[in-house]
Amino acid sequence: MEYDLPLFRPPSEARSLIFQVTLGCSWNRCLFCTSYKTKNFLVRPFEDVEKDVYEMSGLYPKTKRIFLADGDPMEAPTDYLVKVLDLLDLRFPCLERVSAYAGPTNLMGKTLEELKTLKERKLDILYLGIETGNDDLLRKVRKGATAEQIVEVCRKAIRAGLRMSTFIILGLGGVEGSRAHAKDSARVVNGIDPQFLATLTLMVGPHGRLYEEKIMGGGFKLIDRKQSLQELRWFVEDLELGGCKFGTEHASNYLPISGMSLPGDKDEILGLIDKAMRDNSPDLFRPEWARGL
Ligand code: SF4
Repeated sequence: MEYDLPLFRPPSEARSLIFQVTLGCSWNRCLFCTSYKTKNFLVRPFEDVEKDVYEMSGLYPKTKRIFLADGDPMEAPTDYLVKVLDLLDLRFPCLERVSAYAGPTNLMGKTLEELKTLKERKLDILYLGIETGNDDLLRKVRKGATAEQIVEVCRKAIRAGLRMSTFIILGLGGVEGSRAHAKDSARVVNGIDPQFLATLTLMVGPHGRLYEEKIMGGGFKLIDRKQSLQELRWFVEDLELGGCKFGTEHASNYLPISGMSLPGDKDEILGLIDKAMRDNSPDLFRPEWARGL
């Protein structure tokens, strides 16, 4: 099997077998995202996926976890996804769960019944970038959905039995929009009540000035490490969740926190953030050179 690069997966899927059922991202318009700019969205012919599955099931017959790539396989028609999931179940007898990225725009196109049908076939976790709960910012970065729509599609998936792994991007609102971004994001996450929650931190590499002046414009200023901690605190202090695994271990974040659960560990998480803000010791932070997407 050959992958069509670039290929992305969440850190928690490091040990999963990956099949590309779609290429690229059907939306591909978010201003902060360059992941799939080199690809045109495509649902791969079922026969091509079938060939990959036969090959890999011969090599790794005991596979338990599978991740479907690229950016939003949920854009594929439901009957196509059913065929893929049935094939995976047939060829991998130890299969426990299948996961995939999903975008709000393609979940809008799936009914509750369709999502239930996919869940019955071992689709289990959807990774969805909320990015921000602030409507002005969602519009500005061209996410293609409002905060209300994001809550709605995530709740629909959860009602179908799927587990939602959601993330927001620290720094997306810049310095001026930091507080509103944090507070509105917490409100939206509370409305979803996901099973998993993570943060990423905006990274624009050497194009900082271009991003500030040309892409975002209007006096946008990227936040620094200290401001990202403050933003994380504003976000976490407002979270009221029923039962959620929380982490900031993604390589883009300055302060890696892992293995936490909400609501139980909220005070501990806030304590870690406060300590990092107070001590500002380099040992606590991921060095700039080690940050990545
Ligand atoms: S929906 Fe996701 S993958 Fe697609 S452009 Fe936006 S952030 Fe990137």
